This record gives sequence, structure tokens and C-alpha cells, in this order.
Amino acid sequence: MESLGQGLAWGFSNREDGNMSLFYGESNNSLGNREKFLRTLGIDYKDLVCAKQIHSNQIRYVSDSDKGKGALSYDTALADTDALITNKKGLPLAIFTADCLSIFLYAETIPALGLVHAGREGTRENIVSETIIQMQKRFNLKAEDLKACFGPAIRSCCYEVGRDFKDFGYGLIKRDSRYYIDLIEANKKQILDRGIKKENIRVCGICTSCENDRFFSFRKEGRSSGRMISAAMLK
Ligand SMILES: [Zn+2]
Repeated sequence: MESLGQGLAWGFSNREDGNMSLFYGESNNSLGNREKFLRTLGIDYKDLVCAKQIHSNQIRYVSDSDKGKGALSYDTALADTDALITNKKGLPLAIFTADCLSIFLYAETIPALGLVHAGREGTRENIVSETIIQMQKRFNLKAEDLKACFGPAIRSCCYEVGRDFKDFGYGLIKRDSRYYIDLIEANKKQILDRGIKKENIRVCGICTSCENDRFFSFRKEGRSSGRMISAAMLK
């Protein structure tokens, strides 16, 4: 995986690593899957800070007292949260997805970290933009200090949405009178609009639905779909 700079452990899992959710899909092996995958990043799975994601634009600052919330049971995860930010070292943040986009935000100079869950609802509510604004205020960082990277997500080739999204804005694509959303293009625009340099944004070209054999996809698999983890920690 490409580097976002020194001092950061980060990565995202794929289907081969197994289901990482304690709530969605077949979760009997999820803790073991997390332990094995996170070990490769140098992260202790028992320290993980997880959120009960609700497709909102709610952002939560994570402090040392949150360590381990949601690590061993879904009940203890941070409620009603879709973005996590911290400047504390040794606190691993986690977002779980199957088609939705995960976004890593990192400012090596501070250092400060953000991890965002952006589906169509969160994207429409500008969650990544709001997260950058909060990080700038709280950590006193400049836009040019920030680097951004995207996890695997569903792309406009496969992500058809209803007419209720016809005013979605940037990232909405119309084909044969149907509407499609490209989560990466939409969020990349929000990040650029916050002043992050283009060369500091790394896009991965994966579509989770097209490459369903390698990634979990809610659109392809429905309610039984497992979740991939995106995890990051300041070292
Ligand atoms: Zn696709």
C-alpha cells in the first residue's frame, strides 16, 4: 500500500481477510479475523475504537478514554458516529464498509488523523468536508498539511440510486435516464474544495461490486454481506 507519510499505521482488509463486523454478516469469526489482520499493521485488536455508523455527518473526537470501545462487542462502540478524529498516539480507529467509501485523512506534521465513513447519505451531508474543518480547528492544521486516501468503494459503473438523488451534485452521473453516484469523485471534490492539494489525494480504482470476488459488496450480496475494516493509528 502507498505511504501517507511517517508515523502512521493504516490499511484496509479485503474479502480474503474475512468479515470484520461484529454486527453485520456472519460474525462468529470476526474477532479472530480482526486480530489476524490488524496484527499485520502492528495494531492490537483489543485497542480498536469503533463506531455505530448511521450514515450521518456526525464526527467524534477520540481520546484515550475511548480506547477499546467497540473492540470486543458492538454494544460498546461509539453511538451515532460516522467520522473519527484524534491526535492521540496508539489509538487505532476503525470504520467498517461494504460498498461505502472509507477516507483516511492524515497530517504528519501535527500529527493528526481522521477516518471517515462516506456513503451516499454522508457524502450528501458533506461529512468529509466537515471532518476536515473540525480537524483544522481542533488540531490547528493547514489544508496543505493534509493527505487523503480512499478505501475500496462502489463506483458509478454499479452504484445506481433513485430519483431522490437527482440533485446530489458532483459525482452524480446520468446514463440511459438512470442515476448513478461515484462516491470517490464526489468526496474527492469536497476534499479539493477544502484546499487539500491534488497531489496529496490518493485514489484507488477498485469497484467493490465489480470486484465482488475480492471485496464485500452490499449491493451484490444484500443483507448477509460481511464488512471490510479500514483501520489507522498514529504511532
Ligand atoms: Zn462496478
